[in-house]
Amino acid sequence: MSLDLSKNAKNLLENRYLRRNEKREIIETPKELFQRVAKNIAEAEEDQEKQNYYEEEFYKLMTESKFLPNSPTLMNAGTELQQLAACFVLPVPDSMEGIFNAVKNAALIHKSGGGTGFAFSRLRPQNDVVKSTGGISSGPLSFMKVFNSATNTVKQGGKRRGANMGMLRVDHPDILNFINAKGELNEENQELYDQFETSLEETYLKPEIIDEELSNYKEKLLDKQFSNFNLSVAVTDEFMEAVQEGCNYKVVNPRNGQVVGELDAKKIFKLIVNYAWKNGEPGIIFIDEINRKNPVPNLGEIEATNPCGEQPLLPNEACNLGSINLSQFVKNQKVDWNALKDTVRLAVRFLDNVIDMNKYPLSEIEEQVMKARKIGLGVMGFHEMLIRLGISYNSEDAVEMAKKVMEFIKENAHQYSQELAEEKGAFPAWEESVYEKPQRNATLTTIAPTGSISFLAGTSGGIEPFFSFSYTHTDGEGNVSTFEYDFTEEADTDILVTTMDIEPEWHIRIQAAFQKYVDNAVSKTINLPYVASKEDVGEAYVLAHELGCKGLTVYRDGSRGSQVLETNKED
Ligand code: ADP
Repeated sequence: MSLDLSKNAKNLLENRYLRRNEKREIIETPKELFQRVAKNIAEAEEDQEKQNYYEEEFYKLMTESKFLPNSPTLMNAGTELQQLAACFVLPVPDSMEGIFNAVKNAALIHKSGGGTGFAFSRLRPQNDVVKSTGGISSGPLSFMKVFNSATNTVKQGGKRRGANMGMLRVDHPDILNFINAKGELNEENQELYDQFETSLEETYLKPEIIDEELSNYKEKLLDKQFSNFNLSVAVTDEFMEAVQEGCNYKVVNPRNGQVVGELDAKKIFKLIVNYAWKNGEPGIIFIDEINRKNPVPNLGEIEATNPCGEQPLLPNEACNLGSINLSQFVKNQKVDWNALKDTVRLAVRFLDNVIDMNKYPLSEIEEQVMKARKIGLGVMGFHEMLIRLGISYNSEDAVEMAKKVMEFIKENAHQYSQELAEEKGAFPAWEESVYEKPQRNATLTTIAPTGSISFLAGTSGGIEPFFSFSYTHTDGEGNVSTFEYDFTEEADTDILVTTMDIEPEWHIRIQAAFQKYVDNAVSKTINLPYVASKEDVGEAYVLAHELGCKGLTVYRDGSRGSQVLETNKED
């Protein structure tokens, strides 16, 4: 059986995935890793015969590089930890007990390799009354700091640092502070900055040098603000309409539902756009669109997503993801639809089994997950697939292929989930759901970033274009990998475009094409050239909303100090 791993993949497995003993010595081979995962996930099957059959099938699925589950499944399946899901959303209720409970629960999830999303929208605003103490509340931002420090402290067993998504509704009274959170110095850091400025002024340095020192220092301080958080503003349709019409929108105190004022929608939109232009944050999610597409509205309202934005979930819900490597399904410049169909079906079974094999970090989470049995099957290697088909990423043909391939995956995934319902039962909340026929899972599809697993598979991440065909990647621990892709034999050079050759509009249209056939959401970065204007960013948001995207993340080249991926420069 093939287990054809690149040097990069071997290194990554050794650094982060292979099991180790107490002395931190590696105690399994890559082959044993995939055997461990296949065996464990097949254990969800009802009898020995089926377990043996699916163990073999799952092993082939992964080692032939057709599909990989998300990192926690690879790391933890068949180990004592057995926490297999990447995505969690935790509730943050407006009470001291509730908030600190969420801090504790997030720590437990991070320890097990999962990422957490939170909506802070229920918290009463800064300076609002606190009845029990007669005092005033310090507001969502101050509590978010506690979550941020807790995340710093819990390193995930040396495998990954925790990741959080923090969201605030655009109609929360503290929205301005939230939008400024990463772009302006907070009080403590402002003090440090002022002290530094005073000490510099007492030196005999040239003013230009002082300015440069100060600006570097500011960047450094800003980098540390909410460094363990992605921040996204949850914008409503009402807000987007108010932006278009240039009018005010209402701001509401979540404690009592009272309207406490109005804000100028255009000004708030501009502020979001300015910071996104400056450093890529905050992102935005279209919370009304997310809830319109909620397949089981009776279970509750969705307020937040996981850290990278692709998985909207109810409070206390978790989801496991897995991705099909599309680059493996091109034969002689054609898509092998039959092979893809087989892989979709097997992958759905795999991910559905993961739900049952998962040891959830909290009983509340297990209970919530079991009601809807959501899974998130997605893709990686979409750009590589396009290249092998002779299609340029920035073209109508690419948009058409995105729709065709994702529609095919979605339909087959739902079809198989219906068959699974006959075999193993529908998800318990099915009768309250939007589905007419019983199915096993309330959601089937999600496009994840596949930040690590696409490295293992040696292909382009998720639905992103190649950043470059030759690049160096440095991970959080400073491990450096170099990637070289040579497609000159397969493709004409004029279709070999990379991220920065692609107009933002194409990025968005590809995202929207996938979103059309994705039950959950799509992780995608809309890359803009360094020279892009703030208006370009604003237009990107409006277009994404019009095209039915569930959120948008923009990144302007070179706007952040350090980049994870760096193009190898040719001299
Ligand atoms: P992978 O390739 O490792 O399976 P992805 O890059 O596809 O993971 O990310 C999927 C999800 O996994 C993220 O949206 C997030 O919920 C979770 N995740 C990713 N990186 C981290 C991290 N460092 N800590 C915690 N969770 C993470």
